[in-house]
Amino acid sequence: MKDQSPNSWEARADAHSFYGFTDLPTIENRGATVLTHGSGPYVFDVHGRQFLDANSGLWNMVAGFDHAGLAQAAKDQYDRFPGYHAFFGRMSDQTVMLSEKLVEVSPFESGKVFYTNSGSEANDTMVKMLWFLHGSEGHDQRRKIITRKNAYHGVTAVSASMTGKPYNSVFGLPLPGFLHLTCPHYWREGQPGETEAQFTARLAAELEEMILREGADTIAGFFAEPVLGAGGVIPPPEGYFQALQPILQKYGIPLISDEVICGFGRTGHTWGCEAYGFVPDAIISSKNLTAGYFPMGAVILGPQLTQRLQAASE
Ligand SMILES: *Cc1c(COP(=O)(O)O)cnc(C)c1O
Repeated sequence: MKDQSPNSWEARADAHSFYGFTDLPTIENRGATVLTHGSGPYVFDVHGRQFLDANSGLWNMVAGFDHAGLAQAAKDQYDRFPGYHAFFGRMSDQTVMLSEKLVEVSPFESGKVFYTNSGSEANDTMVKMLWFLHGSEGHDQRRKIITRKNAYHGVTAVSASMTGKPYNSVFGLPLPGFLHLTCPHYWREGQPGETEAQFTARLAAELEEMILREGADTIAGFFAEPVLGAGGVIPPPEGYFQALQPILQKYGIPLISDEVICGFGRTGHTWGCEAYGFVPDAIISSKNLTAGYFPMGAVILGPQLTQRLQAASE
């Protein structure tokens, strides 16, 4: 029940804060949930009520809400050096070490990392990198981005355009040139009598048709979550990435694995692409990258994209 007093935390939350992804009339009737702290997988509200946070924050609090080691590491670093950028050839020692570690645990033999403040921004950055790269290689027209319906890639104008959800139409999104394939959801999208393998083959054919219809030399990249997360926790049908990747390779289209949810163990492997047996051209990370203790995203480029970007930048 909603605490009606104007000085309640709930009323104060409503009075001066917007919520994201929230139907405001519903919350105005029910009242906000104002939280004070957490312990393990639990969070506690201003009335002392305990909740199991089944969403793990926004899928990101994978180490729980009171991991002493992470809190101490953050404090030690704030005491030593509270923050620094990586512009103009400068970089903190911690960034050097983190990149070494990320490339080491990545599925890539070699690669490079570019940091952002969120996964949305990491997806935007990856799109800009692809546009820059193709342009520098003489393919200015390679700008279209392919994703899937029900995909979730973020909240910025570009990553929301990549997101295959109808709610983005209220913003007039997607922007032109952002294309969405059928959601790889066998149970919902499979046709009567169609086997899972036939479903996979149909989706692969759909990808190739889209590429040929649009013109292969207009496509900058293909982005996919190994398991669609916010779109409904949808694992791909059998053999999906094995069927799609050769088509992408045939037309020179980089495959970007959005591992913002799947990364760091969510599928029982370090990366979702490992769980589904493919090596992408780049990985997008955030959320579990810091277990939610700090907002940060990363673009992890594999060897080919690293080399091409390096050459483009020269
Ligand atoms: C949450 C999410 C993003 C956006 O990351 P933020 O750090 O919230 O901006 C991108 N891709 C996927 C798959 C996500 O789940």
